[in-house]
Amino acid sequence: MAATPMPKRLPEPIINENAKIVLQRRYLRKDTEGTPFENYRELFWRVASSIAAEEKKYADSVYTVSKLAREFYDLMTSYRFLPNSPTLMNAGTDLGQLAACFVLPVEDSIEGIFDSVKHAAMIHKSGGGTGFSFSRLRPKDSVVGSTGGVASGPLSFLRIFNCATEQIKQGGTRRGANMGILRVDHPDIMEFIKAKERDGELNNFNLSVGLTEAFMRAVEKGEDYELVDPKTGLVSGTLNAGEVFGILVQKAWESGDPGMVFLDRVNRDNPTPAQGDMESTNPCGEQPLLPYEACNLGSINLGLVYAAGQNGHDSEIDWDELKRIVHLAVRFLDNVIDASNYPLPQITETVERNRKIGLGVMGWADLLFQLGIPYNSQKAVDLAERVMKFIRDESRAASKQLAKERGPFPAYADSVFGKADLGPYRNATTTTIAPTGTLSIIGGCSSGVEPLFALSFVRNVMDGDRLVETNPHFETALKNANAHSASLMEEVAKKGSIASMEFLPEDVRRVFVTAMDIEPMWHLKMQAAFQKYTDNAVSKTVNLPNEATQEHIREIYWKAYEYGCKGVTVYRDGCKSSQVLCTGDSE
Ligand code: ADP
Repeated sequence: MAATPMPKRLPEPIINENAKIVLQRRYLRKDTEGTPFENYRELFWRVASSIAAEEKKYADSVYTVSKLAREFYDLMTSYRFLPNSPTLMNAGTDLGQLAACFVLPVEDSIEGIFDSVKHAAMIHKSGGGTGFSFSRLRPKDSVVGSTGGVASGPLSFLRIFNCATEQIKQGGTRRGANMGILRVDHPDIMEFIKAKERDGELNNFNLSVGLTEAFMRAVEKGEDYELVDPKTGLVSGTLNAGEVFGILVQKAWESGDPGMVFLDRVNRDNPTPAQGDMESTNPCGEQPLLPYEACNLGSINLGLVYAAGQNGHDSEIDWDELKRIVHLAVRFLDNVIDASNYPLPQITETVERNRKIGLGVMGWADLLFQLGIPYNSQKAVDLAERVMKFIRDESRAASKQLAKERGPFPAYADSVFGKADLGPYRNATTTTIAPTGTLSIIGGCSSGVEPLFALSFVRNVMDGDRLVETNPHFETALKNANAHSASLMEEVAKKGSIASMEFLPEDVRRVFVTAMDIEPMWHLKMQAAFQKYTDNAVSKTVNLPNEATQEHIREIYWKAYEYGCKGVTVYRDGCKSSQVLCTGDSE
């Protein structure tokens, strides 16, 4: 749809130094020589105006296209809200593929498997990430009907997907990222669990074992459980649940891989069960989807809704402003669905039927810093629930408003909302918490709902110059406490954390905690708090110190299950990590 021409007096956005590097490398449109032919203002206007242009289709809209384009521009260039990378890269371009997350089916046939390889390649080319369940593939060594030969099993095909991904550098933007899931009751599960043992194996995949409630109950009771051949539906063997869980824990301790996803928990939140089960998530785990479904994400920067206390009142959150942002962001993300060109007709169909969007947050650690609340405290966990409940409720209110203007999502009547007479809503889901690997760089804020990794660090820039980069809220707090000095900043940059600096004021040390200062259980409690009010899932890493034992990891896994998390990712400091990178620096 034709976009509104750029207004003459459109303000120039302020771009931080790191964002300049990321935007120049991957987001500004370039000619065949690789020279950018748009500037930052044009980039954000391209996105704002093309997404706003979709509004024209809806006669009952409360906005004019030009007013909405300007509101979207201001929303993005003030970094209060940013849409996922593919929207920033491709909105208003011929490619026009705007979603970050896809799930594709892998059928148990050669045609099905290679269709899926091809479809994944098309999605990677457009900057999206793909997730697959390999659970439908018949196990290794079972008979192939048409030839009488033997099947090579899910793992051998996973390697083909991995290899294809390797070859498709994404048009100068980013290499593909994949999630591979295998159910714990698939006969090849042990091979899957060990698949990334060797460094560099399946390097374009994150792997997760799909755990079921039946399996978790068997772990609890120390019982065996059955392996089922997906082709025949017959039981092909048994394993001891406790032993399998123990190996999963051991692998997580060694390398963080594979992760796990609680499939029954995921499907308890399936808004459209009539269309089948969700069997996989996107690469970073925050977005469970149906086969052939895609979802576009966007994140609100919570660091910018801080309201300083006045007239003796405590500092707070500017709830009115947060509400305004949520409503505008939901409209933006719903328009993105219409503006996007999906790489396959089946995907267009599924997306348009359910119209899932994933609004989430970033800058959570920045907000806590400003409010003076330690991340590792009950107060922070309670606030997380309050903030996310507010965002979920307001995003649903916004989706209801859109349903009035545009009609509900086509599958509404058959969805859990339709059945419970809760809507009508425009979107089957509204909330997801993404990692915001690149968005947080562009927004200059802390990523997702994660704590900071370091309060200050040294960045090596060109010509061997060193630049000490410090979190601005930390710097302000030190200045207010009269504790700021260049030598101290060098020291903090070396350590990252101030946990051991007893000479610093106690309240500063309590509030300015980093990922490694935080007890693993607080990481998990924070994930659970956000999950409670998130329709889709939460991207979060539970950091553990190097000396953590397998027993610690076992406890985290078990609690994640009990707290109702949809999956869990642990990372033990210093262990080899083979996570697929999702940051702006991933090549
Ligand atoms: P961004 O900040 O770039 O918008 P996120 O770090 O929030 O992205 O990741 C969100 C989702 O985007 C991921 O779960 C994945 O589906 C997709 N994604 C991220 N990085 C990549 C990548 N390098 N290649 C393909 N897809 C990616």
